[in-house]
Amino acid sequence: MRFTDLNPHGGIGANCCLCESNGFRFAIDSGLHPKFAGSESLPKHGEIERNSLDFIVLTHCHLDHLGSLPLLSRQNPDAPVFLTYGSSVLSRRMLSNSISVMKRQRRELNIPELPLYGRGDLSSLYSRMKPLSSESPLTIEKEGRSLELTLNHAGHVAGAASLTIKSKEERSFFTGDLLFNDQRTLAGAKPPLEPVDVLVTETTRGATARDPSRQRENEVVDLIATIGKTIRKGGSALIPVFALGRMQEMLVTLEEAFRRKAIPKVPVFCSGLGMDLVNHFHEISKNSKTLRFSRKVLKLIGARPLPRKLQPGRELAMQGIYLVSSGMMVEHTPSYILASSMLGNDRNSILFVGYCDPSTPGGALLTTQPGQDFEFEAIQWREKVRARIRQFDLSGHADREELLRLAEKLCPKTIILHHGDPAARSWFEESLQDSEARIIDPEPLKTYEI
Ligand SMILES: [Zn+2]
Ligand SMILES: [Zn+2]
Repeated sequence: MRFTDLNPHGGIGANCCLCESNGFRFAIDSGLHPKFAGSESLPKHGEIERNSLDFIVLTHCHLDHLGSLPLLSRQNPDAPVFLTYGSSVLSRRMLSNSISVMKRQRRELNIPELPLYGRGDLSSLYSRMKPLSSESPLTIEKEGRSLELTLNHAGHVAGAASLTIKSKEERSFFTGDLLFNDQRTLAGAKPPLEPVDVLVTETTRGATARDPSRQRENEVVDLIATIGKTIRKGGSALIPVFALGRMQEMLVTLEEAFRRKAIPKVPVFCSGLGMDLVNHFHEISKNSKTLRFSRKVLKLIGARPLPRKLQPGRELAMQGIYLVSSGMMVEHTPSYILASSMLGNDRNSILFVGYCDPSTPGGALLTTQPGQDFEFEAIQWREKVRARIRQFDLSGHADREELLRLAEKLCPKTIILHHGDPAARSWFEESLQDSEARIIDPEPLKTYEI
């Protein structure tokens, strides 16, 4: 196999891998880097000769995997795009939202090249999408050669898949973003355990040790108790979430908590994209063995859309639970604006339920001590930290030890480290030192012969 990581910044961001196996050329994912805008946020598609791909695989619909797929597909119009049925449904809503965000960025950040693609590109992409059932191999033939491709349920988020590629010569497994634990709405991954030649593994949590007392279940209990306490003392709770996956998971968790009276009944406010995706989750779950979800949850908890015009720093009009994106409280998003209104009141809580990159406002808030000033630079607002700030370890990614055990079971000859910051990859490199496998931490844009 030949492998090239086309994410120019390394780490997690504009995910896109170019692979060659048994004479077939294919790309896995094509994302946008969340910290950049415009062409800087793209993978290096220029490394792929135009219309040279035999196919493209999309593992799931988070934008760091999906966001630039319309461009890669436009440059490779003969390549079918293989994905799960769930991803074929979710990608439509995520990509049309991505166009709206890019149009807004064009105005706010003055980047004339935005949006990077339009509605026409989306229609062309959808016509190239070929949904595959999970765990059902597909054989592709070309010039007397063949390659077998299987999407394996990956847990991480609705529609997420790992990928098995098999030829006469070799067998490879790409984890994609992977979670073994069952979530409230989604079954965990059970990857095939046949030995492989090449393992490409995500390493997201490589630098994060899980505190043994903070298993997922305890974290949910603790989160509910903290929301309950906040509401009882008259405050509001802000839960910054990804609109895709984490928001729907939290809706179901809150519904259970209201039913058990663990949280007093208050309004739950949600941002628009997350509420729209609820309908998509509902559709997908009708045909799914792994996703359990009904749109009824919105009615049951009386969810309502977030008020349209949020005023930075202005006291909230209503007590409630605010379940809004972005998960890392990125500038100009509803969670960022709401935090500016809630931070100065000691009855409120801001509760993170996923990973926050240290360079994002969410990451910065998590390291600010109570009583210190916090700067909302993008809206020129400063507030003292009086609200309760907490983070709960409900990650959508496997613990690092679980991924090591997977690597052990698959007995690969080569392990490629992927989808992780440098510190996370280093932990894996050290921890895998005693294994027989050749370990590769690929430099961006360098091609490895395996
Ligand atoms: Zn993801
Ligand atoms: Zn990812």
